[in-house]
Amino acid sequence: MTTDTGGQLYGYDLVHALDEFGEPIRGKRKINEEQAEIVREIFEYYAEGRKLKHICDDLNRRGIDSPKGGKWAPSSLVGSFVRQTGMLRQTLYNGVVTFNKMQYRKHPENGKRLSIMRPEKEWITVPIPELTMIDDATFAKVQKALDERSSKHLQRKMMPALMTEEEKRETSIRRSKEWRRKQAVTKKRANALFGGKLYCGEHNQKITATYAKHYSCPVKGCANRNLHYDEIIKLVLDAVAELDEAKIIEHFESEEIQQVRAHHAREIERLTQHLEDLRASINKVIDALGSDARSTEIRAFFDDKAEQIQRRKLDIAHHKRELAGSTPPRKLENIIQRHQNLVANLRAWSRDPEAVACMRQIIDRLTLDTASQKTGKAMCTVDFDLQSIISTNKRP
Ligand SMILES: [Zn+2]
Repeated sequence: MTTDTGGQLYGYDLVHALDEFGEPIRGKRKINEEQAEIVREIFEYYAEGRKLKHICDDLNRRGIDSPKGGKWAPSSLVGSFVRQTGMLRQTLYNGVVTFNKMQYRKHPENGKRLSIMRPEKEWITVPIPELTMIDDATFAKVQKALDERSSKHLQRKMMPALMTEEEKRETSIRRSKEWRRKQAVTKKRANALFGGKLYCGEHNQKITATYAKHYSCPVKGCANRNLHYDEIIKLVLDAVAELDEAKIIEHFESEEIQQVRAHHAREIERLTQHLEDLRASINKVIDALGSDARSTEIRAFFDDKAEQIQRRKLDIAHHKRELAGSTPPRKLENIIQRHQNLVANLRAWSRDPEAVACMRQIIDRLTLDTASQKTGKAMCTVDFDLQSIISTNKRP
């Protein structure tokens, strides 16, 4: 987005005029109405939330030439996230020319030109109302959408590279859980509360539906065969009713969770230090450079550093979120109260789709012992997903 170089810009024609000394005036423009229509269309569609690819496909289908003459590509519309280039960020369309955005220096050794983006507060903007083709509201909306969409994109792109194998596994487990959760809620299927989560305590096999309202362990001769729904649901509800504050606290004070917390705290510290180091190294290079230079290597160096800084920031934010997620919640008694209300609802109607979906979120596994040697009576034990009970209750 170099409005300060006076080159060609889509939507405008260059006017060939001479100044008072008879020298050609660089960068004098007037609106090209035909192209301006296309620019307006692109901004409006993007502001409406259309995908870049769809916008480009549409232009290409209509045979409209791109600024460079070929096909339209999303990259020419959004440009580079790091360098803030691209048509949709072009302030001249909004009637403002931006100077002093880049800093040009010469590399002290090879004399090549080098450009660095200045901090936004140093930019100089000059209004040129006669060149406006996008109104303020649309332009602002597009800038906001660009920031949101590009940071999401960057996050998706960067995260896998930053994660350890363990974190990748955790993420994939969490994603599939979230997906199943959504499925359960949106489909409103009359799922049994224990469906797919019930295991035989003796054989460690899944207990599944066999015929009308009956469930069985697949092992022949097992005591957990031909069990009626009513019998199982009673044992299951008795088991889930036993969740109390002590169990939640115990979970968060467990060695494992403590270690997870310590890991994230250490990572935050390490990455913050790394971020400082990156900034220091950039400053050192800037100080060492002379003036007015262009060098693709140096340019690449800065882009690379900017990207690394962005990555570290995302990484730190990730660890902060994880740390918050593994910290014991306040208001435990409210969580338990809500949980007990849910149990009461299910005792009244065990197939209530919403209550079932809600309760299933926090159940990892149910183990059924109908012929327990220890107690001599049938019982069920629950493995709660206590991480989920916290996040479920955090929702408004
Ligand atoms: Zn069995």
